[in-house]
Amino acid sequence: MRYVLLSLLLFTAQLSTAQTYDRQDSLRGTITPERVWWDLTYYHLTVEVLPERKSLVGSNLIQYEVLEPHQVIQVDLQPPLKITQVTQDGKVLDFKSEGNAHFISLQKEQKKGATESIVVTYSGQPREAVHAPWDGGISWKKDEKGKHFIASSCQGLGASVWWPCKDHMYDEVDSMLISVEVPKSLIDVSNGRLVKTEENKKKKTKTYHWAVSNPINNYGVNINIGNYTHWHETYAGEKGTLDIDNWVLRYNEKKARAQFKENHRMLEAFEHWFGPYPFYEDGFKLVEAPYLGMEHQSSVTYGNKFANGYLGRDLSGTGWGLKFDFIIIHESGHEWFANNITHRDAADMWIHESFTAYSEGIFVEYFYGTDAGREYARGTRMNIANAYPVIGDYGINAEHHDSDVYYKGSNMLNTLRSWINDDVLWREILRGLGEEFYHQTVTSQQIENYISQKADLDLAAFFDQYLRDTRLPILEYYSKDEILNYRWTNTVDGFNMPIQVTIDGVARTLTPQAGTWQQEMGTVLVVDPNYYIAEMKIK
Ligand SMILES: [Zn+2]
Repeated sequence: MRYVLLSLLLFTAQLSTAQTYDRQDSLRGTITPERVWWDLTYYHLTVEVLPERKSLVGSNLIQYEVLEPHQVIQVDLQPPLKITQVTQDGKVLDFKSEGNAHFISLQKEQKKGATESIVVTYSGQPREAVHAPWDGGISWKKDEKGKHFIASSCQGLGASVWWPCKDHMYDEVDSMLISVEVPKSLIDVSNGRLVKTEENKKKKTKTYHWAVSNPINNYGVNINIGNYTHWHETYAGEKGTLDIDNWVLRYNEKKARAQFKENHRMLEAFEHWFGPYPFYEDGFKLVEAPYLGMEHQSSVTYGNKFANGYLGRDLSGTGWGLKFDFIIIHESGHEWFANNITHRDAADMWIHESFTAYSEGIFVEYFYGTDAGREYARGTRMNIANAYPVIGDYGINAEHHDSDVYYKGSNMLNTLRSWINDDVLWREILRGLGEEFYHQTVTSQQIENYISQKADLDLAAFFDQYLRDTRLPILEYYSKDEILNYRWTNTVDGFNMPIQVTIDGVARTLTPQAGTWQQEMGTVLVVDPNYYIAEMKIK
């Protein structure tokens, strides 16, 4: 998620703010000594949601494997929530708190290779979402009938805003159980599969147990609580039968049943381009939420008002953006890029957003043709600022400044496809990423290396140009005496991307060099518009 429209507003505000980072940013954004020694294997999050008090009471069992012996473990939980107790094997442990980070002293000797667990008990009133999902937390809303409609959203902010966890993207549990207790008139929908429902007669509550059997990132974990109804469908996909479960407020069922047919088109297009849906074991769910939407793994949340476009608008300005439901397509695209392939550091957010923004055009292409899909991608250039590098600062859980992680990145990919100039290979690369980095957390460099290797091209300068520099390459040219002179300027050293052009109507490939003029016979130059570059005709 993290969207264009709000991002552009934020962008103006942030330009005037110098970037300063503090110790809390580092505790959140680095793999600290108290994190590096243990590998997450499993969470069992148990939480009671008390709507009238806007409170949570719960615990998280954190299971891990000891990689290197160490006696202090870091767990994150954001105030005003408070850790009430930490235990290991039933023994109460001491801990020191430093803002959102809590350092627990373990008494038991932590032996290399051992599987251990701690239980962190917590309670309080979590941060209330200010403007979900961008400025997240818990949304304590009411539906149109006055019933509670509650949801979590925490991308960027971090899952520790509502439950205690290892709040860094590099490490994911292998599986998770989420047990959510709510007033019995309400239903909780979380990630994975509903394995059990328990009624607690005395308390007049119900507990919903959701099991996730695949690795999951922290911000993907969610609760959605409301007066839901549900229907089940299946999709015959590349890996067999995929369960689809749709959860919407009762009074929206009719509209939802019509609009959510989009799920099937989404799966058809994305499995073709990106490979099998990455979480068959957990199924796919689309869940109505009291905000626009978010890529919660196997329970994508939806609040796009059961209409096409982005709240009825076309972010590309081409018309193609009204042919699909932006939230269903974009947020589900994240199942491949964000949930399957997950960045290790928030600085590499482009891995999530650029590929997913690219998936919008790929979806259009699948149903409306290559020209339509690429026109959509080009149309989204109007959202690019070129003010900050796409890749941010490492180690501080960086927030991106603007929407370039979406549409500059997607146009970089659309450009690269033209360079590779082999759509069969391009699709193999896109599908290959999902296989190579299946259920992994990765760095930008790993993705760049993979693409370079598969395309058999040196793309180092290309990626540096579009991801680590703000300058847009300029193709400078002029013709004199029926000779065309051309070169790249405004580029990093070594930028030498070839481009498909026509010269006097004849298709050609030119390989301009950075700074150095070259010549071809001819007068009228037309560049394939899919290259995201600037052109400057001089003299
Ligand atoms: Zn997104």
